[in-house]
Amino acid sequence: MHTPKADPRPSLYYPYRVYSPWLPSSAKGQPQSCTVAIVGAGPAGMVTALMLAQHGVASVLLNAECQVSEGSRAIVFTRRSMEILQQVGVAHRVVASGLPWRFGNSYYRGRAVFRLEAPYDPDDRFFPMTNLQQQYLEEYLLDACAAEPLIEMRWGNKVTAVAQARDLATLSVDTPEGVYEMRADWVVAADGGRSGIRAALGLSMEGASYEGRFVIADIRIDLPLPTERLAYFDPDWNPGNTILMHREPQGIWRIDYQLPETESVEEALRYESLKARIDAQLAMIGFAETPWELDWSSVYSARTLTLADYWHGRVLFVGDAAHLLPIFGVRGANTAFQDAQSLGWHLAMVAKGLTPESLLSDYSAERVGAAREIIDEAGKSTRFMTPPTAGFRLLRNAVLSLSLTQAFVRPLYHWRTSRPHAYMQSRRNSPGDDDALFQSGPGHGDPPKNVHIGPNHYLLDHLASVFTLLYFSQSSPLPQSLTEVVEKHRNRGMPIRVLIVGSAQNNFGDNQVVADDSGRVRQCYGIAADGAGYLLRPDQHICARWLTLDADRLDVALRSALPEKR
Ligand SMILES: Cc1cc2nc3c(=O)[nH]c(=O)nc-3n(C[C@H](O)[C@H](O)[C@H](O)COP(=O)(O)OP(=O)(O)OC[C@H]3O[C@@H](n4cnc5c(N)ncnc54)[C@H](O)[C@@H]3O)c2cc1C
Repeated sequence: MHTPKADPRPSLYYPYRVYSPWLPSSAKGQPQSCTVAIVGAGPAGMVTALMLAQHGVASVLLNAECQVSEGSRAIVFTRRSMEILQQVGVAHRVVASGLPWRFGNSYYRGRAVFRLEAPYDPDDRFFPMTNLQQQYLEEYLLDACAAEPLIEMRWGNKVTAVAQARDLATLSVDTPEGVYEMRADWVVAADGGRSGIRAALGLSMEGASYEGRFVIADIRIDLPLPTERLAYFDPDWNPGNTILMHREPQGIWRIDYQLPETESVEEALRYESLKARIDAQLAMIGFAETPWELDWSSVYSARTLTLADYWHGRVLFVGDAAHLLPIFGVRGANTAFQDAQSLGWHLAMVAKGLTPESLLSDYSAERVGAAREIIDEAGKSTRFMTPPTAGFRLLRNAVLSLSLTQAFVRPLYHWRTSRPHAYMQSRRNSPGDDDALFQSGPGHGDPPKNVHIGPNHYLLDHLASVFTLLYFSQSSPLPQSLTEVVEKHRNRGMPIRVLIVGSAQNNFGDNQVVADDSGRVRQCYGIAADGAGYLLRPDQHICARWLTLDADRLDVALRSALPEKR
């Protein structure tokens, strides 16, 4: 019998709400079945559910706990994550309560040695980074799920086993009333880093785990410092190690420091140990007298691990269940959003019977490719933050000491922030389009480029979670021959929206228009003449583009973007 924690988790600033568990008796003995069962209502599970719902696919979210996650956990959300959160309708809430930022400072032995400046141009709706505690983000996603009739949330339901047949999976779900069985056409394993589903299927991950361990301590303190990422290398009070500091909303600061190799987790999390180190850090930055209170603390170590395949029969892995990435460079939750956005449309198209199941191998290949790229990048940051061997330590120390006098080594401090993966090798990219002929603009597999169109008005505001044909024309609607191709694919169920990037002055018939009177969208997308086009997938990545669009090549691209079921 599963007994989820019934008391609200402790917090100085976040009022945890405990939800009532879903009990099998409420189903009055009805057999339990669903199209998609999502195991785990963390960020990955909830964004997947919201994406599926946008395609009309119902899901049941099963969550072991009865409240959102403990502690701030992921606190830095990237611009791309914000664009994904805009797609599922919660970005405005993150903007309203989060802290935007774009600068970072690195110090070595008390001296400032590197200032990070994340690019931010007027075409960006969102800042490069926004700080917000994970509990708030989960709360906003929960509210969005609650408002969606196609999503059913079952709190206090812990999946304990999964059995697979050819075309369905059966989950054993433990509740405060005992176990019931749930049949699902598809199971999304979004059950986090310690995924029980991954263990139940006997899957192991590839990659490396690093020895270095870090304490995360969230404290409430009034520090008159801007929202910037602060990194202190080799400070006097913790020689050879690294300390990171981040401002969070609600007057909270995260202090993140490396532990000596021999210290146990229990010792590290003892209040007296935490206090001594936090006091030392505050003293070092000139705030020894400022009072503070501890909110939450935890210990983590860096891992760069991924499953080699995210698709196993009726089960698909997403988020931390699929991979474990170091948090340096803010990769955990930010990568989970990109997985969920991708899985949402791939699985929806399969679940609706619009395309062969083999589309799911594209989800897996694309996101495993992303994880491997991240692992490669994150491995470099991790080896710098926590050198795994004497050789790496020697190299790092050389960089640190040289940086005091030599400007050329300072960029090595750059922590390689999480960035969206480009699906350049995707099988969804169209053969025979004009991708190679473009001089500029986002190409095959790239995420879209946002463009400022007017006051509080951006190109991505117009993109829904469907395939989007951007047709560039100043004066005329989509030609009849292209309209017929679009209609043909709509008739087989493919969700497609046509957007004319044109002028507010002209009449484009039934076509929706993005007014581009300044020509900025055309400029950003490398368009010189009318009649050009871009095809975007439901996750907004580019899969085809043409300098001059014609009916035959549009047909090829749409067939390649969503293969037809025979
Ligand atoms: C201590 C800590 C600090 C972190 N700090 C950062 C950070 O600073 N920056 C960053 O980017 N990332 C950080 N992360 C990582 C980040 O929190 C995760 O990457 C992110 O939460 C992944 O989301 P997810 O939905 O995949 O998994 P999770 O958020 O872990 O969600 C999994 C969900 O599945 C549920 N579940 C588990 N097992 C079952 C089951 N058998 N049945 C039903 N439900 C189940 C859990 O209750 C949970 O709700 C941190 C993580 C931890 C643990």
